[in-house]
Amino acid sequence: MSIRLGRRGLVSLAAAFACPFCTGAFAAAPEWGYEGATGPEHWGELSPDFHACGMGTQQSPIDLNGAIPARLGPVSIGYRQVPLRVWNNGHYIQVNVPPGNGVRLAGVSYKLLQFHFHHPSEHALNGKHFAMEAHFVNQAENGSFCAVGAFIEPGRSNPVLEAVVKAMPSQPSQDQPVAGVTVDPMHLLPRNRAYYHYMGSVTTPPCPETVSWVVFRTPIEASAEQIKRYGSVFPMDARPIQPRNRRLLLVSGG
Ligand SMILES: [Zn+2]
Repeated sequence: MSIRLGRRGLVSLAAAFACPFCTGAFAAAPEWGYEGATGPEHWGELSPDFHACGMGTQQSPIDLNGAIPARLGPVSIGYRQVPLRVWNNGHYIQVNVPPGNGVRLAGVSYKLLQFHFHHPSEHALNGKHFAMEAHFVNQAENGSFCAVGAFIEPGRSNPVLEAVVKAMPSQPSQDQPVAGVTVDPMHLLPRNRAYYHYMGSVTTPPCPETVSWVVFRTPIEASAEQIKRYGSVFPMDARPIQPRNRRLLLVSGG
């Protein structure tokens, strides 16, 4: 028996392979949020596409405790100054970046797509949450992700967060360039690059379990005022801690 595919069939098949998480784009994406009937405990029921959020066994974030010290190679990060774009996507503030930035972890290269913020932190460190967490979403050729997380605690002013909170719309918006403003994402990373590593998921629907997580042990700082301004728009945009189950959590020595 032969299978005949017309041109359209081939195109849609190709599209499905190229973008495994885009299937929901053809139907109205269900609403989800951080509280009430569309909150995290209901994400898995909101759409068949969100099944992993409820039934997955490798979900993120997790509490980083009891990590096993390991000789992990360094995570090499090549981010550079980028023109600032700010997008209030209704869930958090996201900054999309142009091509040319990326990370390398365990011999695999990932391209930086965007970075965004959560308030308070999503991961916890030995049970402790931080004021905020920055996430860098990097993607490899095969579609898998390397997400890089940095905790943010109150302290000195942070130049990237300053530019972001100054430009961020308080209501959901289009992705907008901010005229004349560039930011260096490296300013959102700690100098000490010791990190936790585990396999997990995207922390928002559809929660795909295709993420190699790197979370730095050392927090970065932002001023209490900057944290407060972000929190005035997003008082709570963090998913609760998920069961670790039988996953390995490693910590690098560096
Ligand atoms: Zn995130």
